[in-house]
Amino acid sequence: MARTILVVEDETTLRETLAEALEAEGFQVVQAADGRAALARFRADRPDLVILDLMLPELSGIEVCRIIRAESGVPIVMLTAKDSELDKVVGLELGADDYVTKPFSLRELSARIRALFRRSEQAATSVNGPSIVDLGRVQVDLAGHRLLRDGQALPIKPKAFELLAFLLRNPGQAFTRDQLLEHVWGYDYAGETRTVDVHVHWLRSTLEDDATAPQFIHTVRGVGYVFRRPSEAPART
Ligand code: CA
Repeated sequence: MARTILVVEDETTLRETLAEALEAEGFQVVQAADGRAALARFRADRPDLVILDLMLPELSGIEVCRIIRAESGVPIVMLTAKDSELDKVVGLELGADDYVTKPFSLRELSARIRALFRRSEQAATSVNGPSIVDLGRVQVDLAGHRLLRDGQALPIKPKAFELLAFLLRNPGQAFTRDQLLEHVWGYDYAGETRTVDVHVHWLRSTLEDDATAPQFIHTVRGVGYVFRRPSEAPART
């Protein structure tokens, strides 16, 4: 079955060009020209991926991203005209998975879309060890790609989940931010190491009783991050 992509862009020419190009690649495409229409289409069509322009009439791309993310873990690629670090951090905190800065090539966008689909497939099929890992406040369903609290799925960004799953599968091993970018975001991701920090910050606020004194995801000064179970932590001095 063809995957469905929702293209949200108010510039008609760009939206239609994108839709045509994606259809030519075998995707089914639904379109929306403003933020409200985007939410309506999202709820009606349940797309497999959303391409979301940042500057939109009615509701901004940031608002739309926040609302969609509260309802779903669907991969979101943001289109932005501004290539500033601030926008990236804001978008990542809201749960976008990737960015393309205008002007972009269709080839670049298409490569990113395929990478996101590939990673969500891999995450769904590769299971090592127990598929549910209990971290106390939350349970991590590795096979189902979900974070659970009291049996209820919590909203989680796909990248944050992949980062957590990667660290869980390599307990006790410290990784640099660059290594985490490579493993979780992919070799070709032109991201900033700050991206990793933003996701770790979010995971801690969800997993930890006290995010300022983490029990699971520890900072290794001068290196990066490591996952440890509380019983495996080195004794405090
Ligand atoms: Ca726009």
